[in-house]
Amino acid sequence: TDIGELLLSRIRDVTDYPEPGVMFKDITPLLADPAAFTALTDALAEIAGRTGATKVVGLEARGFILGAPVAVRAGLGFIPVRKAGKLPGATLAQAYDLEYGSAEIEVHAEDLSAEDRVLVVDDVLATGGTAEASVQLIRRAGAEVAGLAVLMELGFLGGRARLEPALAGAPLEAL
Ligand code: 5GP
Repeated sequence: TDIGELLLSRIRDVTDYPEPGVMFKDITPLLADPAAFTALTDALAEIAGRTGATKVVGLEARGFILGAPVAVRAGLGFIPVRKAGKLPGATLAQAYDLEYGSAEIEVHAEDLSAEDRVLVVDDVLATGGTAEASVQLIRRAGAEVAGLAVLMELGFLGGRARLEPALAGAPLEAL
């Protein structure tokens, strides 16, 4: 699509980052381009509206940069899902496996309730581990998952298939 080509043209490939053999997708050129950043925000806000979301969850850290303007544009509240130990209030936590070791994410328990339908926003879907943990966290908080929206999906890593059970029919949209 036109917007897909615009967005792709503003993502920079960085070889051997953060370690040898990895090709990192750097979104900072896109953030620096107001036309591209606005087009991305509008497209994600359209998904929020279409899926009937009542809140936007952004995943630390680039999901904050993308998710916050989407929430404002869509007229919805923004909820941060953070790495463990960063939120000051009572939290729910979800652990997940990394290639080496494990990680944990948290959300303020009081930020989500059974009335909420949540759109999860992040920049890149890679293995799907982070997104899967966030979907599990949102459900455990009692809320419904309206969908998962990302700027870019790295299809060769199989994240979409991994997420299918957790999403349970909720859409995964990659721009
Ligand atoms: P996953 O859990 O799907 O393996 O990794 C996704 C998470 O790692 C996302 O929060 C995303 O921001 C980050 N990530 C993984 N690979 C890349 C990449 O190539 N570029 C960017 N910008 N983020 C990445």
